[in-house]
Parts: sequence; C-alpha cells; structure tokens
Amino acid sequence: MSESRRRSPVGQLYAVYSPHRKDILRGLFFLFFQNSYVWLSPIFIARLIDLPESDPQTRMARFLVWGCLMLGLILLNFPASCLRSRYMSRLARGISRDLRVGLAQQLQQLTLLYHSKHSVGRLQSKAIRDIEILEALPGQFVAVLFNTAVAVLVAIAAIAVRAPKGLIFFAVLVPVSVALRRYFHKRMQVTTQQYRHSFETMNAGISDMITMMPVTRAHALEGFELNRVTDRIQDVFRKGRRFDWLMNLFGTSSWVLLTFFQASFLLGAVYFCFLGRISVGDVLMFNAFFASISGSVLNLLNVMPMLAKARESLCSINEILHAPDREENHGKPAVSEVSGNLLYDGVTYSYPEGDRPAVDNMYLDIKSGESIAFVGPSGCGKSSMLALALGYIRPQSGRMLLDGADMGKLDLRSYRKHVGVVAQDVVFFSGTVLYNVAYGTNGIPREKIADAIKLANAWEFVEKLPDGMETKLGEGGVELSGGQRQRLAIARALLRDPKVLILDEATSALDVESEMLVQDALDRIMRDRTTIVVSHRLSTVRHCDRIIVLDEGRIVQEGTHDDLMETRNFYSRIIRATSVAA
Ligand code: ADP
Ligand code: MG
Repeated sequence: MSESRRRSPVGQLYAVYSPHRKDILRGLFFLFFQNSYVWLSPIFIARLIDLPESDPQTRMARFLVWGCLMLGLILLNFPASCLRSRYMSRLARGISRDLRVGLAQQLQQLTLLYHSKHSVGRLQSKAIRDIEILEALPGQFVAVLFNTAVAVLVAIAAIAVRAPKGLIFFAVLVPVSVALRRYFHKRMQVTTQQYRHSFETMNAGISDMITMMPVTRAHALEGFELNRVTDRIQDVFRKGRRFDWLMNLFGTSSWVLLTFFQASFLLGAVYFCFLGRISVGDVLMFNAFFASISGSVLNLLNVMPMLAKARESLCSINEILHAPDREENHGKPAVSEVSGNLLYDGVTYSYPEGDRPAVDNMYLDIKSGESIAFVGPSGCGKSSMLALALGYIRPQSGRMLLDGADMGKLDLRSYRKHVGVVAQDVVFFSGTVLYNVAYGTNGIPREKIADAIKLANAWEFVEKLPDGMETKLGEGGVELSGGQRQRLAIARALLRDPKVLILDEATSALDVESEMLVQDALDRIMRDRTTIVVSHRLSTVRHCDRIIVLDEGRIVQEGTHDDLMETRNFYSRIIRATSVAA
C-alpha cells in the first residue's frame, strides 16, 4: 500500500499543496501588503483624531506623515493585489491541472475490470467537483485564515502598546470561543455527514429511477417508484432543515459572543477615557480593531467547513489515484511483430468476487491464422477467455503465451496494436465517420479508408449519409442502426490489418438482413489472421476451423461444425434451436 494512504488527512492535503508552497508563500506575502491599509487604518484614524490635542509645532508634520502613509498604502493595494492574484492563481490552477492530468493518466492505466466496476458518473464527479474544491481551498480558506491571524496579531500588538490591561479581554475571549467551537464542532460534523449521505442516496435513487424507466413502465410500477423516490427527497428535506438550524445556531451564537465582547470592550475603553487614561482616538482604534477581528473570525467560521470538504474530496480522488488495479507495462519489452499464435498454458482465473474460477486450468493452443469459436451457455467463461487473450485480465496460475513469449512479461500496449476487436456494443467518439474509422492510425490516405469501408459492406450506407465520410457521429451526430455500427467497427478493425482479430458477440444483436451483410464482411476480414469468435449464431461460427464448447470455465468438447453436429450435445442443441428461430 502506498505511503500516502497511511498519512493523516491534513498530511495528505499538505502533500498536494507542498510542491506549490513557494507560490502559497509569495501569494500570502503580497496579500499582506494588499490588506495592509485595512489592518492599519484603525491606527491612522486614532492618530489623526488625536492630532488636535498634540503639540501645535509638530502637528502639521505628523499630519502629513500619517496622511501620506495612509494614501500610499491605499495605492499599494493595486500592485500587491495583482501580484497576489498572479501567484495564488498559478497555485490554484496548477493544482487542478496536476490533479486532472494525474487522474487522466491513472484512468488510462487502470484495468478494464476496474472501469467496468466504477460508473462513469462517479469518476466524472471526482474529476470535476472534487478537484474544484481543492482548487478553491488556497484562495478561500488559506487566505481567510491568514487574514484572521494577521488581524488578531495587529490588534493584540496595538492594544499591548497603548493599553496592556486590555489584553485581559483576549484572555477571556479566546477560551470562550474555543469552548463554543468545541460544542458545535462534533454536532455539525454529524449533521453535515447525515445530510450529505441523504443527498447522495437521493441522487442515486433519482438516477436509478431514470435508467429503470422502461422496466417500471412495463410493470406499471410508476406509483411504487415515485413513493420510493419521494421518501428519499423527504429525507433530504428533513436533514437539510436540521443542518440549516444548527448552522444558524452556530452563526448567531458566534455573532452574539463576539459582538458582546466588542461592545463590552468599547464600554470599558470609554470608561477609561472618562478617567483620562486613554485618548478618544484610542477608543476608536480599539473599537475598529475589535470589529475587524470579529469580522474575520466570522469569515473564518464560514469557510471552516471547506477544510472538511477538501479533505473528503482528496480522499475521494486518492481512491482512484491509489487504486491497485493498474496494468503495468512500463519497462517491459515491446512486441514489434506478431504472428498470432496464442497458447493458454494451464490458465486459471477467478474474479475477485467469484466463488468458482471463470476459467479453470485451461490448455488451448491457437495456431497463427486459425479461426476459433467459443460457444457455451451464458457464464461459461467465453468473455473471460477473450479478456485473457487481450491481456485485460491475467492468469492467477498458468501462463498466456503469445508466439511463445509470456504475455505477463510483454508491453501489452504494443501487442494490442496488432489486435482488432469488434464487440457487441460499438461506441463512437464524437467526430466524423472518417475520424472514427481511422481512429488512432496515422497518415492513412482517404482512399484506403474508403476501401476499408467498402470491404466492410458499409459503403452503401456511408455514401448516403448527409456528408458521406465527413458526417458526424456520436453526441449530436447521426444515429446509426446496430448493423451499420457493426460494419463501421469492422472497417475500423480492417484498416489496422490486425494479426489477431477478436469478435465478441459481434453479430448477436443484428436482424437477419444486416447479419448477412456483417457476416459477409466478417468472412472477408477473418482470412489470414488468427480469429477468436464468441457467438451463438450458426452463420458466424460454422466456418471456423475449430469450435470450442465451454462449460464452467472448461473445455467440454471441440471440433469442426460437422464433427460437433454428429453428437447430441450443447452445441448441436443451441445450433438447432437458433436455426429454427432464424
Ligand atoms: P460468458 O461470456 O460465457 O457469459 P463470462 O466470461 O462473462 O462468461 O463469465 C464467466 C464467469 O465469471 C461467470 O460466472 C460470471 O458470473 C463471472 N464474471 C464475469 N465477469 C465478472 C466480473 N467482472 N466480476 C465478477 N465475476 C465475473
Ligand atoms: Mg460474455
């Protein structure tokens, strides 16, 4: 387990910000100058008000000095603010950039098994919301904390110089505030957590409701669904009200406490002014300092919850950044040429949650150029066999050999450049037909891409699209039928001229007419390459060199179509069943 997992939450936050600490320090340095007028103005005002009582000879000189200082500090705000913003913004934007790039890198290296288990929505929320919170932390929380600290220090220093006895007030105020914060802290934490939990449950409920809409409609369970979601919305209402109530209680107690002290301090100062111990200017100065302290403390209390949120966001991002299921390719030798001989050498694989192996002590030698079909009941391990051939999952015992070399020791990315996959669900990037077919290839001339589209039996419909090969697909683009999508996927595979071709239920969802067109295209691209097919369509499997019947992760039968049809077994049963249906 990585070191950062064991660190405390504050330590983890520190780890994120520490590479940028120079920018934080620079930012705070300029923030100090930017706000210097605000912090020091009570002193200026006090000194200016007391001037009429001072020595008439030095009065004018002092007036000029104080006046220039005041106006100078106001003007200083402008350059200081620009510099502060420069560093603080570099810090904030830099942190979100680093985290986003880090996340994207990690997402590209995580196994597909990881991705299949984590919803896109959750991953996206991490990448967007959580990073935004961490981005805002230095500008909001750190700056307010710093402001409060300086306001308190300046006030204490001024009071210590002009009326040291006034410090007794702080001696009372500080423990009372700490006690108040203690009292509310635990309660607020619990309430906030309850509220967030309730909110997440509601969100999950609503998104379930939307995805399950067709099922709900079909079973006439609208009322039931609505009640379920309404309960959750009600819960958010109740938890939200409790949260608001507590927040308000805390806010108003803090205000009363601070303002009560401020007023008492003012009354005390006025009393000492009557006695002639301090000047009118000092009374005003103390009052202004106290007002600025209570203002910044209230601000600080407001941004306090940000720290807790940032901690949580970081944990949530770390869940991805430190997820163990990474595919390690770094430093392994690349494959430059693939002939397409795949050997399952006593391979066993069980999924983390599986109670029995999905692939069980498998020995299977697939010669280069051979076409193999996996058939068998659902759950028998067909997809897992393909995932092993692609290196998406790795044997827990035994080895996968590619042209005699252990796949565990190869850079699988370089191997997959020689592999073409056509799956049941074909997804397109938002982009043109041309872009999607040529995806990831470099400098292939248009005519060759068009040839691939023709070979895949896709030209007849691509031609008729509004902009031909330049028509946009994906979000906001044209909708294609299942058969059309399949044929474009085949064109995509063809263009890369793969040595190993994997067809995962590529024809399963098609109607008879598009099946014929797709099958025709498939027959063409299966020539001269190692092909592994998973399908329950007779037309797809019957011409394969070898058909492997699987059950519970083991081979129960193998042979050609004709061999297998001679015996009554699973294969002949499904073939008969589907042939009758078709
Ligand atoms: P098929 O493709 O033949 O339907 P699979 O290879 O998908 O079979 O599944 C084989 C076994 O592994 C099944 O028992 C299935 O429940 C299990 N399995 C498949 N994928 C996963 C997964 N991602 N996590 C846990 N178990 C899985
Ligand atoms: Mg499957």
